[in-house]
Amino acid sequence: MSDYRIETKCVQGGYTPGNGEPRQIPIVQSTTFKYATGEDMGKLFDLEASGYFYTRLQNPTNDYVAAKIAELEGGTAAMLTSSGQAANFFAMFNLASCGDHMVASSSIYGGTFNLISVTMAKMGIETTFVSPDCTDEELSAAFRPNTKLVFGETIANPALTVLDIEQFAKAAHAHGVPLIIDNTFATPVNCRPFEWGADIVTHSTTKYMDGHGVGVGGAIVDSGKFDWMAHADKFPGLCTPDDSYHGITYAEKFGKAGAFITKCTAQLMRDFGSIQSPQNAFYLNLGLESLHVRMARHCENGQAVAEFLQKHPKVASVSYCGLPGDKYHERAKKYLPKGSCGVVSFELKGGREAASVFMNSLRLAAIETHVADARTCCLNPASTTHRQMTDEQLKAAGVPAGLVRMSCGLESADDLIADIAQALEKV
Ligand SMILES: *Cc1c(COP(=O)(O)O)cnc(C)c1O
Repeated sequence: MSDYRIETKCVQGGYTPGNGEPRQIPIVQSTTFKYATGEDMGKLFDLEASGYFYTRLQNPTNDYVAAKIAELEGGTAAMLTSSGQAANFFAMFNLASCGDHMVASSSIYGGTFNLISVTMAKMGIETTFVSPDCTDEELSAAFRPNTKLVFGETIANPALTVLDIEQFAKAAHAHGVPLIIDNTFATPVNCRPFEWGADIVTHSTTKYMDGHGVGVGGAIVDSGKFDWMAHADKFPGLCTPDDSYHGITYAEKFGKAGAFITKCTAQLMRDFGSIQSPQNAFYLNLGLESLHVRMARHCENGQAVAEFLQKHPKVASVSYCGLPGDKYHERAKKYLPKGSCGVVSFELKGGREAASVFMNSLRLAAIETHVADARTCCLNPASTTHRQMTDEQLKAAGVPAGLVRMSCGLESADDLIADIAQALEKV
């Protein structure tokens, strides 16, 4: 599939049926797989042969869908996880452990911020947060000798900051570590971070990839470009024998193309067990088949709503990188030439109270802890997803208390704007 365009990969990537096999990806709803001899199965356990033995480690349905996502991102290997949270945790914990350090953009999803700053800190992994708009000097100063990775989001949820992926990749590589990019909001249809130097991409597939609010899920994709062995002292988990897996040295046995995902599956999925169910992987694939068609419409509706809000007297400010004059418009032209996403953030004059009246008056747009759905929805992050943050942290993350995040769905833009207009009248 590698020569085909992304639209074709969305529809047909990852799975090519043989003669007389199902045209659609089969749902292999089985926990386990049968073998004729113990020796046959032993080879699988030793990672000497590829095949299936237990769905916690691998399942054909999940593998077809992961292979499609790898093709969409232009990576060499991918795996599915039970959620975006699991994907980001696995991607980071595959490289950093107790006593290590990470560098992360301060403008990231609230759940990821909590994962890094609270839970991973408890595990002994420290993180230095940097502004997505930091200078090269500020970025470089964040690194320590024990830094193992850099993390950021292409388009941050919910602040909608656009990351300078090239700048962050250069800094990571200058310090001998990979850049992990959460590409959830852009999707590979609008941005492929590997083309800008990122090494690992993660997704909450719960969002646009699924696109219909059906299944929580995540994915991790490896570009296959990072040379672990060239930085073997930093990554002993990849470059020295794994005693918990028959003494395998992942970087040696699976090379740059396969080491990261194989280790992540063999160790982390084995031990933490955050698998995506094959049924959910099937639903995810239905979403992927129309991702390229839906993203264009989400962007069209986001643009129309953002332009309407920008002119409205009750709106203090609008964040949408598709608007000329937006702080991230120039950066978006480079990284997101086809459009960004359907999510528009805006601050109402009148803060938290006005946001509440506005949201309660909407008829089409529902109040939901969700984004990137076919149905338009909205949220006040300060009172929901980000409520564990202090006012200072909220400000640093670019999420003031009166901010409304509106995820424009696939409805008629005219109907969405009429709904917003009548709700604004009530404010
Ligand atoms: C939603 C989201 C996550 C978390 O994903 P879940 O599937 O909800 O666990 C991570 N990163 C970003 C950018 C998200 O939008």
